[in-house]
Amino acid sequence: MRTLILANGEEVQVKCLSCAITGGLVEPEGGVICETEYFHAHQDVAYPIPGLVILASKRHITCLDELTEEERLDYITVMGRIRAAQREKLGIEHVYYFYNEDTTHHFHIWMVPRYDWMKAFGRSVESLRPAMLHARNELNTDDNREIVHTGIATLRKALSIPK
Ligand SMILES: [Zn+2]
Repeated sequence: MRTLILANGEEVQVKCLSCAITGGLVEPEGGVICETEYFHAHQDVAYPIPGLVILASKRHITCLDELTEEERLDYITVMGRIRAAQREKLGIEHVYYFYNEDTTHHFHIWMVPRYDWMKAFGRSVESLRPAMLHARNELNTDDNREIVHTGIATLRKALSIPK
């Protein structure tokens, strides 16, 4: 169990942070980007990279092969819609995706936009972790957080249009 402090100051005990977020008990900073029957998208603002999206399953599973047929279809469909919104609304040309099954949370994929400044941390996927740490440690400025929050709102608006 983990103890979480809600926005209203109330303390709650949760078994799984991902379940608490996808189930709506805990509101992630910036709010929900979009939600489907089986998935929930938000941004982890601890890594203030505009347009970064975490897409998590609502069901408490960890491995890709645990998805049902319906969940698989929902997953790839909503991920494609998010990707299109990143491109059309935020001008994001490339996205890196990563997903690990030995997570301490549960099934969630990171959709990390590739920005030019990340090239300073290496080529391709080798730069991913250093770039994210750089964002967390150096880009947590008021100005950048505002850009991140605007990005969240832009994606939410784009994705709220019915399918
Ligand atoms: Zn869970």
